Amino acid sequence: MSTEYMIIVTLAVLYSGNLFGVIYSLIVLKTSIFAKYRIQTKPYKKGVFKERLPLYLLNLLILSIFGVVGIITLRPFFDTELPSIWMFAGQILFIFIIDDAWFYFSHRYMHENKYLLKKIHSIHHRAHTPFPLEYLYVHPLEWMIGVIGTFLGFGLIILVMPLNIYAFWGFVLLRNLHEIHIHSDLNLPLLKHIPFVSPVEDHDVHHAKLNGNYASTFRIWDRLLNTRFKEKSPE
Ligand SMILES: [Zn+2]
Ligand SMILES: [Zn+2]
Repeated sequence: MSTEYMIIVTLAVLYSGNLFGVIYSLIVLKTSIFAKYRIQTKPYKKGVFKERLPLYLLNLLILSIFGVVGIITLRPFFDTELPSIWMFAGQILFIFIIDDAWFYFSHRYMHENKYLLKKIHSIHHRAHTPFPLEYLYVHPLEWMIGVIGTFLGFGLIILVMPLNIYAFWGFVLLRNLHEIHIHSDLNLPLLKHIPFVSPVEDHDVHHAKLNGNYASTFRIWDRLLNTRFKEKSPE
C-alpha cells in the first residue's frame, strides 16, 4: 500500500465524516425534521452556521494537515494487512480510551484555569445550544491540544505492535461521528442505548451549564473523580 494511497483514503475519511456533519447540521438548523428529539428548547441563533464557517474551515484544514503528517510519520509503524475483527475493534477501543482520558484531563484543566477558559476554551462554549458541526468550533490551539490524545493512543500501540491502518481509519471516522453526535443536541432513540458510551445529554448539559461532564466518550472519569454535572453543585 503506497503512502499516497494512505493519505488519499485518510483525507477521504475525514472529509466524508465532516460532509455528513455539514448536511446533518443544515437539516437540524433549517428544517424541523429532528425538532422533537431536541434536548434544549432554545432556538438556534439566526445565521449561526455562516458566522461559524471560517473557524470550521480553519480547523478542518488543521485536521487535514495532522492527517497527512500522521500518515507520513507513522508510515513505518503501520500494518496494512486486513486485520481480524478483534485486532480492528481492540485497537480502536484502546485509542478511544486513551484519547478520552486525555480529553477529560485537558478539558477539565481548561475549565479550572480561568485564563485558559477565558482566552481559549470560551470560544467552544459560545455554543450554548450546540448543533452537530459545533465540535469544529474550537480555538485552533485547543483543537491541536485535542489531537495529542489521539496521537498518544497511536503511539502507545506502536510501542508494542504495529498500528493497523484499517483500525486507524476506523478510529478517525468513528471519533468524527461521535463528536458530531455529542454536539447534535438530539436524543435519537436508536443511538441513546449504545453501551458504555456517554449519551448526548452529558456533553449537551456541559455546553448549556459550562460545568461538569468533562469527558467526551465514556463516563468513567467523571464518575471516578466526581465531576458529573449536578444541578447547583457541579463538582
Ligand atoms: Zn468545556
Ligand atoms: Zn463541545
